[in-house]
Amino acid sequence: MSDLKILNEKEITGPIFGAESFRNHEQLVFCQDDETGLKAIIGIHSTTLGPALGGTRMWNYDNESDAIRDVLRLSRGMSFKAAISGLNLGGGKAVIIGDSRKDKTDALMRKFGQFVNSLSGRYITAEDVGITTHDMEMVKMETDHVTGIPESMGGSGDPSPVTAYGVFMGLKASAKYKWGSDDLSGKKVLVQGIGHVGETLVKHLTESGAIVTINDIHEDRLQEVNKAYGATIFRGSDIFENDMDIYAPCALGATVNNESIAKMNCQIIAGAANNQLANEQIHGEMLRKKGILYAPDFLINAGGLINVYSELAHYDRAESLRNTENIYNTTLDIFKMSEIENITTHTAALKIAMDRISKVKAEQAK
Ligand code: NAD
Repeated sequence: MSDLKILNEKEITGPIFGAESFRNHEQLVFCQDDETGLKAIIGIHSTTLGPALGGTRMWNYDNESDAIRDVLRLSRGMSFKAAISGLNLGGGKAVIIGDSRKDKTDALMRKFGQFVNSLSGRYITAEDVGITTHDMEMVKMETDHVTGIPESMGGSGDPSPVTAYGVFMGLKASAKYKWGSDDLSGKKVLVQGIGHVGETLVKHLTESGAIVTINDIHEDRLQEVNKAYGATIFRGSDIFENDMDIYAPCALGATVNNESIAKMNCQIIAGAANNQLANEQIHGEMLRKKGILYAPDFLINAGGLINVYSELAHYDRAESLRNTENIYNTTLDIFKMSEIENITTHTAALKIAMDRISKVKAEQAK
């Protein structure tokens, strides 16, 4: 469990190598191109289990430090996501600094593809927040180290629907564990962030009879999803004022923190967002004490990764969906393990993932 250890003062040796978030990362690559305005960072946390695969996020970060922190946290999470899902993949992720609605061009994405190519397959990219299959098509023009390309080009398409299906499985398993039944009819669910994953999750939830409330920073998305599925729009300033049984974070990370936990009246947290816990140990423990069941993010949002992994060999959607469905059973196993070992659900999931990586590392060292 060395990755969970908090560094003490003496161990901190510098702003990057000494930073807790950089610990155990193999590589951080800064990419810049004046002509297209590209500013990107690729984080490779681990290649022990295989090439580091993880999506690219385009976001208008307030400053560069936020972008670095995000890519480090995200790439680390990808290592554990692949490990717990039994995939032979390492953990990596990329961020592009900018507003995806204004700053993204085909030329910028192609330039980014050239940087991905320069890593010779150590990092394989895909979609994340602010990135579409069209963007991956542009990347594909420059490199073969890309997944999530359109089905018309022989790819597996947007991984988000499969991610949403896995999240739905994890959410149902959480209901089963908490309430003895995975029947969601009449359960009040708030979905925060109704983008690619969130919208499909809303679809599954409304079809299963849940009472769904949606929240997003973009009014057009709220209108579209409200129209398509009849979900109620929450427009207040604080989503936790809303009465809910299940909170499904599907926007950005760190929404589970001191402030939000103090206000939470839900019984389950199960969503797609990566890195939901602002601090894994502290906030995982706070949720446990409060009796809120937390479905580990990197476990239940692995459907998209499972899907793009399949694209690397021979894409089989039915098999991907079957493997994604198994998130239901794994989630129940993790809940039981956390109960038996008296640890948080997040720590239980991390333990399983880290054990697998450590074992392979030990084998490789022989
Ligand atoms: P997306 O960009 O399509 O959607 C994100 C949505 O969240 C957008 O509609 C955006 O307006 C909204 N949003 C952003 N900040 C918000 C805030 N403060 N409050 C409310 N809404 C806000 O992204 P996505 O692909 O749907 O991914 C959503 C989350 O799931 C991300 O954290 C992503 O890393 C994670 N994830 C995605 C996949 C995938 O297959 N796409 C896989 C695993 C994890």
